[in-house]
Amino acid sequence: MSDAAPRRCGYVALIGAPNVGKSTLLNTLVGAKVSIVSPKVQTTRRRIVGIAIVGEAQLIFVDTPGIFEPKRRLERAMVAAAWSGAEDADIVLLLVDATRPRDEATRAIVARLKNARRRAVLALNKIDLVPRPTLLEIAQRYAEDGIFDPVFMLSGLTGDGVDDLKSYLARAVPAGPWLYPEDQLSDLPQRLIAAEVTREQIFLQLHQELPYNSTVETEKWEERDDGSVKIEQTIFVMRPGQKAIVLGEGGRQIKRIGERARAELERMLDRRVHLFLFVRVKEDWTEDRERYEAMGLEYTS
Ligand code: GDP
Ligand code: MG
Repeated sequence: MSDAAPRRCGYVALIGAPNVGKSTLLNTLVGAKVSIVSPKVQTTRRRIVGIAIVGEAQLIFVDTPGIFEPKRRLERAMVAAAWSGAEDADIVLLLVDATRPRDEATRAIVARLKNARRRAVLALNKIDLVPRPTLLEIAQRYAEDGIFDPVFMLSGLTGDGVDDLKSYLARAVPAGPWLYPEDQLSDLPQRLIAAEVTREQIFLQLHQELPYNSTVETEKWEERDDGSVKIEQTIFVMRPGQKAIVLGEGGRQIKRIGERARAELERMLDRRVHLFLFVRVKEDWTEDRERYEAMGLEYTS
């Protein structure tokens, strides 16, 4: 028999309105880039699992797409994925942007938690932007909901307060064996992560409606003898005009998207990457079963 503290392991669902900082916090918690971060809303379409080891505990985080009022099929699939992540989890962690603490989307989530009789841990995020007395008022207001305990104040961006949250979670998850190998940060297949990296560049470099009307798939992943990897990806857009925007004049735009994505992939994979991007017009890709499977979402939400 060993004297070591018993191992603990559990799922933590990170929920919150779009843009409250879920992906940023996840990256800080896990200490590596596993979920893309963007200043625009709803860049995360699927559940992404990041894993942190804290002492004897393994924390498995489920990053959820923003929970909002779904209209189109794609939105419904995203919301269904988000809630199923929350229902399966040992701990629900509601992240709130302290600069807009009771916006409509957050109120809707709180109502749904109450309906489900689900208790949750509350984390007020972005405390680097909000004065202390205001934070205390926000925490007081949330205490009145009667479902949040404990409450943390943190900044996913600066890391302030994140360790307190981490050590709480490590004590709160159930005792049990670890479910993932120690060195694993994410169970998201590499080709999905690679597609996210390119999609992040589309978000960062193109504006308005385009990012929401496009999706990226990794079609080919070829390990080469010299240690490099050849990756082929297709960017799906809905209209020929959008294809023209992604390509840019003389192909300059797609070249820049490819260059940045490749640099990021080389950093993440720690080896040389040959990235080939193709653009395809597929008017109805948001109604296409195959695209959903590629994104790890349920088509029939
Ligand atoms: P998500 O939609 O909830 O996953 O939010 P993201 O993680 O993509 O973050 C949305 C925006 O908020 C990005 O511009 C982040 O840089 C910013 N952000 C996230 N956390 C913090 C924080 O603690 N402080 C500040 N000042 N900005 C933050
Ligand atoms: Mg996100």
